[in-house]
Amino acid sequence: MLNIVLFGPPGAGKGTQSEKLISKYRLIHLSTGDLLRGEILQGTSLGLEAKKLMDQGQLVPDEVVVGMIENKLSANPNSKGFIFDGFPRTTKQAEALDAILEKFKSPISMMLALEVEKAELINRLLERGKVSGRADDANELVIENRINEYNNKTLPLKSYYQAQNKLSTINGIGSIEEIFGAICKSVDALL
Ligand code: ADP
Repeated sequence: MLNIVLFGPPGAGKGTQSEKLISKYRLIHLSTGDLLRGEILQGTSLGLEAKKLMDQGQLVPDEVVVGMIENKLSANPNSKGFIFDGFPRTTKQAEALDAILEKFKSPISMMLALEVEKAELINRLLERGKVSGRADDANELVIENRINEYNNKTLPLKSYYQAQNKLSTINGIGSIEEIFGAICKSVDALL
């Protein structure tokens, strides 16, 4: 199985590149952000709780997202592999993911880390906010919070995967096709 962690700060382009990766490599896309927004749309109690945190740019509790990912993995036993988008976001989540994948005997193959500097991220998110309808994209203070959460809690995961020799960094500035080209080069080197 090809299991890819697509990593990067909010606004780095993970969603866009995920779409291209799943169609080229026939993988299943698991985005905890999308799953959480699905819960919010359905008005579940999990969604209501998550929304309060998401609207402030804070992470939701590890147990919540780990549970969602475990359900999705169990529901797709015959997949060629998965793209993890926006997950894991903390060391606890990364450890939980390793433990779950151990059961399926198919570890993480690689982490692709998209690198984009802060000023560009803020611009992109504010632009997206004009059309996405996402409350967390509309407000610069919330965007700052998300980037701070990323720097404090999520960035250490690069070292986590580097220690397993699985880190591949990608320049996230350029055209969508250029970036996708660099990603494919990295993925194909593994196949
Ligand atoms: P982005 O990467 O553009 O910030 P996402 O759609 O991945 O957006 O996530 C939106 C929000 O959902 C996050 O700010 C956070 O509140 C919550 N969230 C998503 N994934 C996780 C996760 N793995 N752990 C904790 N919170 C999460």
